[in-house]
Amino acid sequence: MNSQWWELPWSLIDGCTPVSEACLNCWLRGIHTRFHPHESFEHVVFRKDRLNLPNKRKKPTRYAIWSDLFHPMVTDNQISLAFDVMKKNPQHSFAVLTKRPIRMANYIANAGQLPLDNVWLGTTGETMARFMERAPIVLAIPGWTHFISIEPMLEDFQFVHGLNFLWSFDWVICGAENSKDKSKKRFFDPNWARKLLKLCKQGGVRFYFKNGGTIDDPPDLCVREFPLPKIKNGGNQ
Ligand code: SF4
Repeated sequence: MNSQWWELPWSLIDGCTPVSEACLNCWLRGIHTRFHPHESFEHVVFRKDRLNLPNKRKKPTRYAIWSDLFHPMVTDNQISLAFDVMKKNPQHSFAVLTKRPIRMANYIANAGQLPLDNVWLGTTGETMARFMERAPIVLAIPGWTHFISIEPMLEDFQFVHGLNFLWSFDWVICGAENSKDKSKKRFFDPNWARKLLKLCKQGGVRFYFKNGGTIDDPPDLCVREFPLPKIKNGGNQ
């Protein structure tokens, strides 16, 4: 079963281009191809017409922004429009997940965006190397709720170094490759996730297990927590 941590997608960006190993079987590409078979997924478009969708929804909702807000084809001004909407809607929470954390860090610094309690900044760390490359960049953006998505988890994580990074996150998402096509689900060993869950528990990090891929979700792994509210400087003013 694929358990989603978000309640609604906010499809602000159409299209994307691959960044790393996690992108091999990009499920957004699959959705795009199904619904827009004649449009290239690589043609990245900021959908201003969808900007106001969260404004229209009163019920507090957990949003995931699709696809990557920090894609190079998205301008700083467009990113700021998205942040303006997130700021105006403290009843919702927004998970902003990127595989381009340098752009995210540079944007936040250059735009002078103050931390928002309802906005969680995250990156993907599908392998230990990607984790070590990206985690410190996101964690260095001060004051925000930080999360890391270890999905698809592509290997066993050996925390020879990097445990301090893991324990600095507010939230860890973990799961096997998410694809409707079974043949595209890369190997996943639930023991990798068990080890990660144990480490998160030790470090007091909230954990969310998404799915076991080709295997049924092991009951002991079905931990589905969310980040705790943080008291921050600045915020929803
Ligand atoms: S960054 Fe995300 S949306 Fe973009 S290609 Fe990779 S998996 Fe797909």
